[in-house]
Amino acid sequence: MISLLQQFDQQSPAESGKELHRFAAKLYPICRSITGNGIRRTLKLIGEKISLQVSEVPSGTEVFDWIVPKEWNVNDAYIKDSAGRRVVDFHHSNLHLLNYSTPIHTTMPLSELREHLFTLPAHPDWIPYRTSYYKPSWGFCLSHNQMLALSEKEYEVCIDASLEDGHLTYGECYLPGKSSDEVLISTHACHPSLANDNLSGLTVATFLARLLSGRELRYSYRFLFIPGTIGAVTWLARNREAAGRVRHGLVLTCVGDASGFHYKKSRREDAEIDRAAAHVLRHCGEPAEVLNFSPYGYDERQYCSPGFNLPVGCLMRSVWGTFPEYHTSADNLDLVHPGQLARSLQLCASIVDVLENNRTYLNQNPYCEPQLGRRNLYRSTGGQSIDGEINARLWVLNLSDGQNSLLDIAERSGLPFATIHNATELLLESKLLAEMASGA
Ligand SMILES: [Zn+2]
Repeated sequence: MISLLQQFDQQSPAESGKELHRFAAKLYPICRSITGNGIRRTLKLIGEKISLQVSEVPSGTEVFDWIVPKEWNVNDAYIKDSAGRRVVDFHHSNLHLLNYSTPIHTTMPLSELREHLFTLPAHPDWIPYRTSYYKPSWGFCLSHNQMLALSEKEYEVCIDASLEDGHLTYGECYLPGKSSDEVLISTHACHPSLANDNLSGLTVATFLARLLSGRELRYSYRFLFIPGTIGAVTWLARNREAAGRVRHGLVLTCVGDASGFHYKKSRREDAEIDRAAAHVLRHCGEPAEVLNFSPYGYDERQYCSPGFNLPVGCLMRSVWGTFPEYHTSADNLDLVHPGQLARSLQLCASIVDVLENNRTYLNQNPYCEPQLGRRNLYRSTGGQSIDGEINARLWVLNLSDGQNSLLDIAERSGLPFATIHNATELLLESKLLAEMASGA
């Protein structure tokens, strides 16, 4: 297949970044949660860009050790002072409401209300993001300065929300390839107005799916837009057969901020996706770090649970929980940059290029070097120095003994996968290589 990255480079990265950021901005105001109309609206907007199949799973459904919770929807939520002024207003920021708050409408003194207020004294202007999915509770999140301004008076507290039997909603984009073996791209779609975590992941996954749509693909691709944890648990419980077809997978989160890249390895730690991602990061020209697996983080925890042990890693820029803006109102659209989103998409495309093109070949002329000049292979095809290109051809010829994949050759030669792949295409044209039979 034509390299995805080549197609990407033909578009303007600046334009592509702006388009990604515009889409994130469109999704930003929606009050999402692990269930409810916010995630439905989000999936509807994603479905305008790619072909998306939406599933609704009834509350109460048992999924492994979990139960699909009641559905939560909010109309309004506020705290009013005695003069009737809204001192905290859900319509100003959906982070103001403890996500999954139970409904309430009452008046109470500040001393009592305080037990239900959450602030961040270290960042007195930021609103924290808090949830209470599995323990019935209610509360408001506000800036510390907002709380300091409250006087010891009575307040009207209203959470006009419903928590009732309904559904858990998730979206899937399935792109069939030549093989039924699958590449899984999973991203959590449950966070409300937070940009890096995880509108960045939603946006990059959507545009990656769009880039792959309609192409001739080696693998089949499945993009999951799901609520965190319970969504992955639910999908895995309902799709054990499809899970068994996953050969490579990536969880995408926090890919829009200014940090360099981080790739957290799958539980297997030496899966092809782990090697492909580490290779692409090494050559990406930005600071990048590969992290060992840990059973803490995002939905890779479910995919990498011991019963599944799927080869699924997690691609991030900043690591969850480590940047000050994490789970606060400061994780807004300013924290996410068009250029960083575009580079993240480009990096994902490079990883897909490796997976799609990583095959093993056999040198058809293994006794001494073939005479390249006679085959017009001692000239440059442009773009790189002739030495670099010939170097790549010699590496591919030398290591194509049926034992080394192109990724092995890229790693051992220190050359980028794309350079090794380009050399391979030329050598195949000259019949100096033949492909080894492979599963996918
Ligand atoms: Zn989060």
